[in-house]
Amino acid sequence: MTAENYITRDKTKSVSVGNSKIGGGAKVSIQSMTNTRTSDVFATVEQILQLESFGCDIIRVAVPDVESAKALADIKQKIHIPLVADIHFDYKLALEAIHNGADKIRINPGNITNIKEVAACANAFKVPIRVGVNSGSVPNDIKASLGVTPHALVMSAKRYIKMLNDNDFDNIVVSLKSSNVIDTIASYRLISQNIDYPLHLGVTEAGTTLSGSIKSAVGIGSLLADGIGDTFRVTLTADPVEEVKIAKEILAACGLRDNYVEVIACPTCARTSIDVIEIANRISELTKDIHFPLTVAIMGCAVNGPGEASHADIGVSGAGDVGDSNGFDGNGVLFKKGKVIKTIPQDQIISVLMEEINDIVNAG
Ligand code: SF4
Repeated sequence: MTAENYITRDKTKSVSVGNSKIGGGAKVSIQSMTNTRTSDVFATVEQILQLESFGCDIIRVAVPDVESAKALADIKQKIHIPLVADIHFDYKLALEAIHNGADKIRINPGNITNIKEVAACANAFKVPIRVGVNSGSVPNDIKASLGVTPHALVMSAKRYIKMLNDNDFDNIVVSLKSSNVIDTIASYRLISQNIDYPLHLGVTEAGTTLSGSIKSAVGIGSLLADGIGDTFRVTLTADPVEEVKIAKEILAACGLRDNYVEVIACPTCARTSIDVIEIANRISELTKDIHFPLTVAIMGCAVNGPGEASHADIGVSGAGDVGDSNGFDGNGVLFKKGKVIKTIPQDQIISVLMEEINDIVNAG
């Protein structure tokens, strides 16, 4: 299968979710999900505002009861990104969530009765529905013939899409998540040859921060690199802020993130004469909120540093004068586009580099 066979994200339908678009070539949006009680408006809003500040584009909340559905109206007034209600089993919660301002609802049509009424209500309020299929929710008849395979996930999704289409509903986003990364990739590749609804990517139950991030980077990253996927959530058993941070790194690695400071750094070796690890971490932290396209390099030595990082807009490297026994107290040199500008005393490397970065950003 080649990429030309996929209905890539520039060709998917465009779906409006509050003030955002998913699909049709829109920017790939980052989603996350709160883990507060949705009925606790204060805690939920606080978490959403924090996630917004880290770069979350769309937020989903679980709606397990009427109290949570009614809380959506209050929550929505206090946040700035689209609000998605996650509903299972009870169609009345879907109706209540829509009436209380949900910008999108996520359901598994297989476990909700009265899909007709949900579709009619969502149509009336112009609220899209995400058909969320995962490996734990494949209908029994499909499971009996196909097992829990990519074909089974795709067949389940197509069945649910038809249920909505049969109720005159077409404002759809689709997800097909498996906890198996390879199956997730295969499922999305398969469905993207069949439908042009926008796709929400994710690896379900990915796990704790390290393993979950790697599974998501491999699964979501492979698909994004294929041109598949319009929005995604990195699911982690961790603070949701971590999900957003990892999501931004995945987008950056796939060349889909702009207006940010990319910090590149060498892996260090015996030639390293400045504390590359400390400097790279500090510069990453200090530049994380700067919305400006800039590449900053932190390199350990003058032998390879400026030359290897000559594509960087600005950077520092060790000057080659390895200091005392720890090896990390040599001077640094500042370079721009590979050209050495000046020497910096080692204790001023971070402050001088930040001054230079701010000058570039302020000059626009
Ligand atoms: S840039 Fe210099 S210090 Fe860094 S890994 Fe390469 S040779 Fe080693």
